[in-house]
Amino acid sequence: MKQTLDIVPLKSWFDTGDAPLIIAGPCSAETEEQLVATAHLLANTGKVNVLRAGIWKPRTRPGEFEGIGSIGLQWYRRAKEETGLPISTEVATAKHVEEALAAGVDILWIGARSTANPFTVQEIADALKGVDVPVLIKNPVNPDLSLWLGALERVNRAGIKKLAAIHRGFSSYEKTAFRNEPMWDIAIQLKTLVPELPVINDPSHICGNRELIPYIAQKAFDMDMQGLIVESHIDPSVAWTDAKQQVTPQALSDLLSNLTYRHAKS
Ligand code: PEP
Ligand code: MN
Repeated sequence: MKQTLDIVPLKSWFDTGDAPLIIAGPCSAETEEQLVATAHLLANTGKVNVLRAGIWKPRTRPGEFEGIGSIGLQWYRRAKEETGLPISTEVATAKHVEEALAAGVDILWIGARSTANPFTVQEIADALKGVDVPVLIKNPVNPDLSLWLGALERVNRAGIKKLAAIHRGFSSYEKTAFRNEPMWDIAIQLKTLVPELPVINDPSHICGNRELIPYIAQKAFDMDMQGLIVESHIDPSVAWTDAKQQVTPQALSDLLSNLTYRHAKS
């Protein structure tokens, strides 16, 4: 059954011409220096359209770094002002939405753990009523297309028309080459059900390591996905979160140069 979402084309809210949308930045904002320096290096590649950084981090187990919190928004705003790049972050509560918007965050995303929880998604959707901001919705951690669609619908019904999905893979008890199984068939089904919905690939969270990223990123492009969100850190070896999967801005630049993007879509 075809689903309908009342959305506007990606081009109308982020025009990259014939190129894919590239979102990049550290998994987490750690310090002002780390965030701002990484942002400058990414901006200098000339290949990044939007910065990413987690301010509030949903960790699977307690006792780990859970994000720098609100103070990071000030650093992030500085990164935006100095580089001229728009900024994006994950929101998981109504308060996150309010604080992020007040700080000038340009694009919000809903993380995989939140997408799996309809109450959380509804709380975020309610906080977005009357706001005109692009929202990206990651697939839920578990391979459930309905949950993903449900989250897209909840946010869309709140009036958000600048909407895109992020394919970040699905967790599995089995250990494979991937941190999160891509399960491309679920992404294909989403594209078939909602052809007008832009889909952006997150090779970093699918792979869980740097080495596999080029293969997943190329496959995403070959499957008509319209962009990438890639974790990039000034010094991945000392990253506070997701160290194994982050790439330096230079490595990201090289990676992007080696990808072929065949499809110019609306
Ligand atoms: C992230 O983007 O850093 C993140 C926490 O991702 P996910 O929600 O896909 O696990
Ligand atoms: Mn991460």
